Amino acid sequence: LTEKFSNVVEKLKRAKKLDEKTVDEALKDIRRALIEADVNIEVVQKFLNDIKQKLVGQEVIKGLNAGETVIKLIYDELLNILGKEEPLKKAEKTPTIIMLVGLQGTGKTTTAGKLANYLKSKGFAVGVASTDVRRPAAAKQLCTLAESINLPCFVDEEEKDAIKLTEKVIEKAKNAGLSYLILDTAGRLHIDQELMDELVEIKNKVHPTEILYVADAMQGQDAINTAKEYHEKVGLTGVILTKVDGDAKGGIALSVRQVLGVPIKFVGVGEKINDFEPFHPDRIAQRILGLGDIQSLIEKMQAAIDEDKAEKMAKRMMNAEFTLEDLKEQLQMIKNLGPLENILKMIPGIGSKIKDLKVDNKQFVKIEAIINSMTPEERQNPHIINGSRKKRIARGSGTTIMDVNKVLKQYKEMKKLMKKMKKSGKMKLPFNMPN
Ligand code: GDP
Ligand code: MG
Repeated sequence: LTEKFSNVVEKLKRAKKLDEKTVDEALKDIRRALIEADVNIEVVQKFLNDIKQKLVGQEVIKGLNAGETVIKLIYDELLNILGKEEPLKKAEKTPTIIMLVGLQGTGKTTTAGKLANYLKSKGFAVGVASTDVRRPAAAKQLCTLAESINLPCFVDEEEKDAIKLTEKVIEKAKNAGLSYLILDTAGRLHIDQELMDELVEIKNKVHPTEILYVADAMQGQDAINTAKEYHEKVGLTGVILTKVDGDAKGGIALSVRQVLGVPIKFVGVGEKINDFEPFHPDRIAQRILGLGDIQSLIEKMQAAIDEDKAEKMAKRMMNAEFTLEDLKEQLQMIKNLGPLENILKMIPGIGSKIKDLKVDNKQFVKIEAIINSMTPEERQNPHIINGSRKKRIARGSGTTIMDVNKVLKQYKEMKKLMKKMKKSGKMKLPFNMPN
């Protein structure tokens, strides 16, 4: 761990359990990291209080030390709070209207284009419309964007009344046979009552299926306070976080969930039309905690799990009662585990001998098919497999008698080798062998 938590990890290297003292120590660093990532201080407070209860008494995760375990559990909890990806809701009658709201400059118009482009790429008929009557340039900006991606843009430059304009553009859009209409709305530099009234009126007129608040992640806490007011006055169904590129730290995502309780649906990650993706909680959580840190933790855990499995596998391979059934099971495990070398490495004395061993996955599939075509009895007692049985097995597995012979021979050799190794007693196994 090199990024934010080297401190806590170093300090708690030798702690055996997550007792209260260990947890308190770890949470000090976590608190600082969360605040640095722009998470609201009250949200941090509540989050840490809640999680402390869960952490105390937990086992240290295999492959990690106590400090790393705390960070991993914090990460899991962040994922939990951030929620799952939630798709856009659909209206019963087309078009589904998605209204974008938010202050000026947060990225509404850009996002309208991005969202329209995203839905178009999913095969939907999409259009955009603007209800901004105060700034004619706003509608132009939207239509230029729409044109660049060949989507219809509904405007009426003559109409100066926002509500009437909304009625007109919706009417036009409805006749166009669209699945989705993205409605870009006017913004202001600050919250103002007139704008809120206007948005509520538009809402009541068009009954949008989604009202998405476009939140500028660079604005940190301010974005949340504004969003809260929008939520109280207009009612939001979700949030799109923009500018989650560059320096934005993503902490605001946590506040969105904790303070507003609505899902984050999409994330804008740049100025270009394709810089847009459905919300991935893991990406945001990693942004909050530090990407490198979390990835290395997950890799360590994975390595520990693999080692565990490989150890068990090696143990079974050393078992003299090795049957074709075992072989098949092991082939399946090998497929999941990756290279056979990793498993054989666990058997001391073998590692060096198999340096150049290359395992062909296609070969595995064949062996598995052949064993599958055997009866349970044949798998336990391969010596009963005579000519006519071989013929049946070959036919059943879509292979040849030669293939069947090859598998049987390989199996015999493996078993012989294992017996020899066990007897020679030269090897010291890293675990206790059952006798
Ligand atoms: P509006 O006033 O809410 O409609 O905001 P605009 O859509 O006009 O965007 C304001 C500025 O933010 C523009 O310069 C956009 O290019 C920029 N912008 C929007 N979304 C993103 C984003 O996800 N990342 C970055 N870096 N810039 C963005
Ligand atoms: Mg705009």
